Amino acid sequence: MEFQDKVLRCVDCGKDFIFTAGEQLFFHDKQFHNDPKRCKACKLKRGGGSSVRAETRTHCSVCGQETTVPFRPTQGRPVLCRSCFETNRRASPAPQTTAVSVSTSISPAAAVSLDAAALADPIDSQVVAPEMTVGLR
Ligand SMILES: [Zn+2]
Ligand SMILES: [Zn+2]
Repeated sequence: MEFQDKVLRCVDCGKDFIFTAGEQLFFHDKQFHNDPKRCKACKLKRGGGSSVRAETRTHCSVCGQETTVPFRPTQGRPVLCRSCFETNRRASPAPQTTAVSVSTSISPAAAVSLDAAALADPIDSQVVAPEMTVGLR
């Protein structure tokens, strides 16, 4: 399948931006059906603080405060609120807090999923139901 660069209009700043063939291929690959709505600059701005629509309420694994994340948290994977995430990313591996042990809680994958969620609208992960093969007679 061939893709060509496409000009889209950003819903935030109203400027035209290029939805490149490579990005279209990426979206096609991920089966995202919606074209991006914002230019890269606005996407970056949006990731920097303003609220997003598709967010999930959850509790921060470190401080326990309620927070919202722009992706669907995976069972068993810790979720950090924005401030804890920033702290964790900036801080040296030496634990600052004694109350909670977070040494293994933040994996690179968690950071990646944040970035990916900022790039595109989240999609539901497919749940594969195991087929029941019962030999009833
Ligand atoms: Zn824009
Ligand atoms: Zn927190």
